[in-house]
Amino acid sequence: MLIVKKFGGTSVADKQRIYNVAKRCAQEYKKGNDVVVVLSAMGKTTDDLVDLARDVNPRPPKREMDMLYTVGEQISVALMAMALDNMGIPAVSLNAFQVAMHTTSAHGNARLKRIDTERIITELERRRIVLVTGFQGINQFNDYTTLGRGGSDTTAVALAAALHADACEIYTDVDGVYTADPRKVPTARKLKEITYDEMLDLATSGAGVLHNRSVEMAKKYGVTLVVRSSLNDSEGTVVKEEVSVERMLITGVALDKNAVRVTVQGVKDEPGIAFKVFNCLAQKNVNVDIILQSVSHGDTQDISFTVDHDNLDEAVEVLRENQKRLTFHSIQADTEIAKLSVVGAGMVSNPGVAAKLFEALYNENINVEMISTSEIRITVIVAAKDGERAMNAVHEAFYRPNE
Ligand code: ASP
Ligand code: MG
Repeated sequence: MLIVKKFGGTSVADKQRIYNVAKRCAQEYKKGNDVVVVLSAMGKTTDDLVDLARDVNPRPPKREMDMLYTVGEQISVALMAMALDNMGIPAVSLNAFQVAMHTTSAHGNARLKRIDTERIITELERRRIVLVTGFQGINQFNDYTTLGRGGSDTTAVALAAALHADACEIYTDVDGVYTADPRKVPTARKLKEITYDEMLDLATSGAGVLHNRSVEMAKKYGVTLVVRSSLNDSEGTVVKEEVSVERMLITGVALDKNAVRVTVQGVKDEPGIAFKVFNCLAQKNVNVDIILQSVSHGDTQDISFTVDHDNLDEAVEVLRENQKRLTFHSIQADTEIAKLSVVGAGMVSNPGVAAKLFEALYNENINVEMISTSEIRITVIVAAKDGERAMNAVHEAFYRPNE
């Protein structure tokens, strides 16, 4: 069997944890399996690199940021290879350049296009464990790129697809996917299985378990994922096309505190304005989430949307540069918001989900500021200070025992 295992930053945060991971990989190897291991940077390394960069230049060039980022994952794979060597297990570390992980050129937010598998296959044939840096790639100029924060999951799924792996296991510091973040919602339960679509909506809604692109890719290539803990042997959660367990009304609740609401005020009420606004943002690769257009007052109106906090400066800058063309008179940014989402394939056939969600918020006297829905997701914007209370109330409403 060929198995791809991915370990996140906390799973390799120190020497003891590195050896813990090395042992797990060695066990798999000793069963006769081919083992490919994707690692993230140790602990908070990536955050520290961001701080280091910002201290030198508050707006570091994205190409150089990627050059810096790639160091973090290289430390992890090199140390892991050393640990395995010390245990007498043959291993080799490879970075994105050595493997040749080809991506688009968008620094900081690149997409994997193609992975050369020759080198990895050669190393596996030599009976080595292959340790690959997560999160990084190279573009057409042979410059380093990165896949966006949390992107090592995507590296692992892409490798599993390219190598036609028999299993893809994502090891993290929680032991699976929960109905809500168990650190914030004590009554959250672990899910045995979840569909790609539900997982994708949860990941995009800030659940923080998997990188959303990794789920997208797993669905596209039919890679079955298992999310499990690196610290114990409990079963974890299987992510796949269809689940066999009995459905709850909803599958999970997620809270995203990283969203910011931008309001473009006083744009002309005429055809094409919304196109121009969102086209500007798209050209800067800014992902827009919930959009709300106010009714017009006089001949102007407001357009609000949410973006990730990391994209705020860029969004405001590109809009300001185009102020005349976009006809607005001011821009406002509100960072004190939180995005609460409920996700579940069960809501397709059950009409009461929205009502139940709003009732739970009403009971807690929490105001809903924006709403958006997809087929299997409802998202509301609430004040940041109400976020966790809202999540607990909503989770409680849907998972109340005996219902
Ligand atoms: N080290 C990178 C990050 O912290 C990538 C990852 O963890 O997946 O975002
Ligand atoms: Mg991660």
